[in-house]
Amino acid sequence: MNFELDDVRIFDGERVIGNGRVRVRDGVITKVAERPGAPTHTLLPGLIDAHTHVFGWADNLRQALAYGVTTELDMFAYPPSLANELCGASEKATDMAELFSAGTVVSPPGGYGSVVMPDMPTLAGPHDAEAFVAARIAEGSRYVKVVIDNGANHGISVPTLDLDTIKAVADAARARGRRTVAHIHDAVGVRLALRAGVDAVTHVPLSEVLDDDIVRLASSHVFIPTLATMEMTVGAPGGRDLARDPRLNLPERLRAAIGESHDSLAGVHLGPDADFANALESVRRLHEAGVVLLVGTDADDAPLRPAPVVHGASIHRELELLVMAGLNPVQALTAATAGPAVHFGLEDRGLIRPGRRADLLLVAGDPTEEITATRDIAAVWRQGVPCDRDKALAGQQDVE
Ligand SMILES: [Zn+2]
Repeated sequence: MNFELDDVRIFDGERVIGNGRVRVRDGVITKVAERPGAPTHTLLPGLIDAHTHVFGWADNLRQALAYGVTTELDMFAYPPSLANELCGASEKATDMAELFSAGTVVSPPGGYGSVVMPDMPTLAGPHDAEAFVAARIAEGSRYVKVVIDNGANHGISVPTLDLDTIKAVADAARARGRRTVAHIHDAVGVRLALRAGVDAVTHVPLSEVLDDDIVRLASSHVFIPTLATMEMTVGAPGGRDLARDPRLNLPERLRAAIGESHDSLAGVHLGPDADFANALESVRRLHEAGVVLLVGTDADDAPLRPAPVVHGASIHRELELLVMAGLNPVQALTAATAGPAVHFGLEDRGLIRPGRRADLLLVAGDPTEEITATRDIAAVWRQGVPCDRDKALAGQQDVE
């Protein structure tokens, strides 16, 4: 598809061009030019959600695209075929977000991963790390997800990976040019992940604020805090208000999922100190220390399985929460565009520059000043193909 967008404010993934023109040829941006003018709309790179769970459902990716998310990074899928088929299909399709997946996670025998998925292969110790990581990459894992979780948030006690094993996994992944992402739920887990040398840490503790020592350790790492999910986990006020934002114009099933559903939170056991303010404060400290933050929602709704953090729409809350934690709107938008593209090696997207894919989001107003303007969506394109948002949200096409 060939077209030009004229007189738009351009957030190019890193900086703001006050008014300009963008030319698209065959799904690729070919020209970006600045020109005088007073735009009413803002053009952004398609958003990248760096932490989701898709469970093999193409409808999740269609829903994501309708809300401006053109790429999703799935953080756990088993068996591998569940991720691979959809990753392949979404690469060729233009009516859904493109999917990349961690596939099978790294977890010890009897660990939290095995509780969720008993058949899943596990890693007993550092000596197995080379072979384990090689097997994951061979079966399609785009990056390696390590689960550091003793089960406390789920009311159980299970073994966790030790420092030497996590380090061996991070080294094995790095030797193969792959990133590691560590799931944590407390400060002990964060410290372990950072000392082991994983590239990215995901989630942020609810029961404590990360101390200066951990923040210092984090300086050369990346955080995907998933504030939208942390907020829903403790039932903090504000998160469910997304359901009623008229700009999102949510279909009833998503309005009900965000506003009322509890299914996906049912097994969560919160300690007495759990407080969303701790999570926001940790993110503020990490940001002040210069730690790279990426937008990830941990969206895990699926057709016939409502959850309060949903594909697509919830990224707009995550952006707002990062601004509440101290990022300015441009920094928050970078965390959803150029940031994840750079960190996860997606060099063909994340910026509005000649040669990049025409994954684009057009919104009314100026989200570089008022972040919630990202919700006022005028159009979404994937590789230059406009998204039929009504059709994408009709949803449940997989279920038939
Ligand atoms: Zn997750």
